[in-house]
Amino acid sequence: MFKKVLIANRGEIALRVIRACKELGVETVAVYSEADRESLHVRFADDDVCIGRAPSRDSYLNIPRLIAAAEITGADAIHPGYGFLAENAEFAEKVSASNIAFIGPSPDQIRQMGDKAAARKLAKEQGVPTVPGSPGPVASPEEGQQVAGEIGFPVIIKAAAGGGGKGMRVANDADQFGQSFTLAKQEALAAFNSDEVYIEKYLARPRHIEIQIMGDTHGKVMHLCERDCSVQRRHQKLVEEAPSPAVDQTLRQDIGDAAVKLAEAIGYVGAGTIEFLLDADGSFYFMEMNTRIQVEHPVTEMCTNFDLVKEQISVAAGAPLSLVMNGHRLRGHAIECRVNAEDPSRNFQPSPGLITAYHPPGGPGVRVDTHIYAGYTVPPYYDSLLAKVIVHGNTRTEALARMRQALDSFIIEGVTTTIPFLGRVMRHPDFVAGKVDTKFLEREPHLLKDQP
Ligand code: ADP
Repeated sequence: MFKKVLIANRGEIALRVIRACKELGVETVAVYSEADRESLHVRFADDDVCIGRAPSRDSYLNIPRLIAAAEITGADAIHPGYGFLAENAEFAEKVSASNIAFIGPSPDQIRQMGDKAAARKLAKEQGVPTVPGSPGPVASPEEGQQVAGEIGFPVIIKAAAGGGGKGMRVANDADQFGQSFTLAKQEALAAFNSDEVYIEKYLARPRHIEIQIMGDTHGKVMHLCERDCSVQRRHQKLVEEAPSPAVDQTLRQDIGDAAVKLAEAIGYVGAGTIEFLLDADGSFYFMEMNTRIQVEHPVTEMCTNFDLVKEQISVAAGAPLSLVMNGHRLRGHAIECRVNAEDPSRNFQPSPGLITAYHPPGGPGVRVDTHIYAGYTVPPYYDSLLAKVIVHGNTRTEALARMRQALDSFIIEGVTTTIPFLGRVMRHPDFVAGKVDTKFLEREPHLLKDQP
């Protein structure tokens, strides 16, 4: 096992990794920017190093400083968390070249899956269904028009290097195509430094279903069933649950097998997520793989009673998977709501600032993963996630009631939060019935307003 793990991240995920390390008896190093001096991850780690100014490029994205921090403190491993450098192959490579273990897959595996057009190709070769679309990257608008004509409108143009819902544009018809293509390319270049794009058929009302994967260095890959992340805004997840109300045991086995096959094809090591779209007719299509721990991993933890972050660390240290069963049956039902410092009625405008009062919900089956406290100032430089509320119940009905009471009793004052909006989602008849798809919020814009 490692002696000391440096966490190259901040916020709730840094705390999550520190907790796992403490349980494993491993020391921790926090890194922080000048804006994060007062953060809890700094207080709870055994060691801490300031790595630069507030903007992420000067701190959390600065590879030489992160490696220097690990060397100075004698850390023998780095956990990247999610976001920042978690899916950066160059970072993984440089960490390993400095004789420090990277808690995650190999640089090659990150690269293979980081290029979404190449990952689609690999899925096809493995017989895993993909959304109809271009066989690879599309170079010119003319070539794109031809592909779109063949598969039929609407289509979605996606950045090959994409992530976080950026660099994606929908084209409803041939007239719109040229402009959408140009915009997608521009966005892709600005966000990912690569303007490579590919094209997929835009499905009308899909659900987002993803499979949690774990692989070890001894050649074993397993899955821990699905999460349903269909409640989204602008292709970004807001609410996640497990199991999916739309997945039965047969479908679970089929999607799980497809995911394991794909992960096995690249000898995947560590925690990963294979994302699919599930169409109304029950067909599922591979979308992409995320080669890291996900924000929404706790819903899987609650339904499997299994610590994914501890497993990630021990697998990186060379231990075999401790999971005994592939495709665990999920126990009960879990839901996660992402609480952000944002104003839904103003297009989710960020609301940084001082938290003047704070009281988290509690009780049986309620978990809150957060880094905030009364007196903490939410800095304007990073994403606006304040807390994740995760509930577990014996049934979906119980989990829903638990989430409603948890949100209703969650006090955060001083900044505008998405809590009231999430409460309305939890009461919407379609969500209650388990009948939502990725366009749900587009159809129900009144949910964004305080007085529906
Ligand atoms: P990112 O890597 O930016 O997260 P994804 O490829 O995972 O992008 O897609 C994010 C979301 O965009 C999906 O969950 C879904 O809501 C929507 N989406 C992506 N591709 C399609 C498609 N072909 N048809 C319909 N919706 C799609």
